[in-house]
Amino acid sequence: MNNTKLIDFLGQKHTLSQEQYRELLTTATAEDDTYLHKAARAACEKVYGKRIFYRGLIEISNICKNDCYYCGIRRSNTACERYRLSQQQILSCCEEGYKLGFRTFVLQGGEDGFFTDNLLCEIISKIKRSYSDCAVTLSLGERSKESYRQLKEAGADRYLLRHETIDPTHYGQLHPRQMKHENRLACLQALRECGYQVGCGFMVGSPGQDVGMLVKELMFIEKFRPEMCGIGPFIPHKDTPFGQQKAGSVTLTLRLLSCIRLICPDILLPATTALASLSEDGRIKGIEAGANVVMPNLSPSDVREKYTLYNNKAYAGHESAQQVQQLQQLMQSAGFLLSCERGDIERKM
Ligand code: SF4
Repeated sequence: MNNTKLIDFLGQKHTLSQEQYRELLTTATAEDDTYLHKAARAACEKVYGKRIFYRGLIEISNICKNDCYYCGIRRSNTACERYRLSQQQILSCCEEGYKLGFRTFVLQGGEDGFFTDNLLCEIISKIKRSYSDCAVTLSLGERSKESYRQLKEAGADRYLLRHETIDPTHYGQLHPRQMKHENRLACLQALRECGYQVGCGFMVGSPGQDVGMLVKELMFIEKFRPEMCGIGPFIPHKDTPFGQQKAGSVTLTLRLLSCIRLICPDILLPATTALASLSEDGRIKGIEAGANVVMPNLSPSDVREKYTLYNNKAYAGHESAQQVQQLQQLMQSAGFLLSCERGDIERKM
């Protein structure tokens, strides 16, 4: 099969063989990519129309007990100026976000022990009491199943936990020995069992990654069928062991976004900040390749610079929640509609 046929097949059957994925990822030409992105956009619009959902990202803490080799807020980075938002600050971000039209709040942070189950449950219930029409998404790393259960009962709706790589050996190259690949995958399973809409995700072009691993990522997405998937190009941070590595490819990231859309037409797929950081029109390119979620930054402006997982992160302009009108105009001029709905997955089980 040539690549056009492979893309048609993927759109119809939502699956390819290992060899076919490899073929598509390694031999796609610029024309094939255009065809692939169009097919992915059409698949997305069949489910969601022109709507692009926006979520308010609140980075609650850059303190983390872990030491992932690629991450700018890793424990060993002494150059990182640490902060932690208070409960009041988090609630104020939600208040401001609600006025700006946000109906999903994403609480993201490092694995910071200060945020106990009790504290998080209190914060989540307060958000849900004040804004009952809003969804709360958490992105707070690995916790116990009991913790996930309590946070869900307090009102959390969704949980993002990037698995970063599906290959256990590769996981070992990206993380210190104490971090276990099987635990990451068990967390994803636990989140699903607790009833969350679950998001996984991985970096494209992280050190040590090869095309065989990307093929396995796509096969994992086929099997796990996450409700959300965050993928973005790897971008090095200068104060990490990977500081001298080169960034991942935008073209390959877009190709993978489109494949994921064709595998799961109803998936919620963000055009990530990493994509926007590497390419000026990365957000729109991501959406044209099948993404349907954007996450402008709602964190207090004085901490935005401190939450740097990688260097040259975009956090101004279209990345800033306060500029949501600008974002709306940008979407409109590209033919999309920035939707103020909660934007839950529209999946027929
Ligand atoms: S990637 Fe996440 S878990 Fe790893 S060091 Fe960074 S914030 Fe912590």
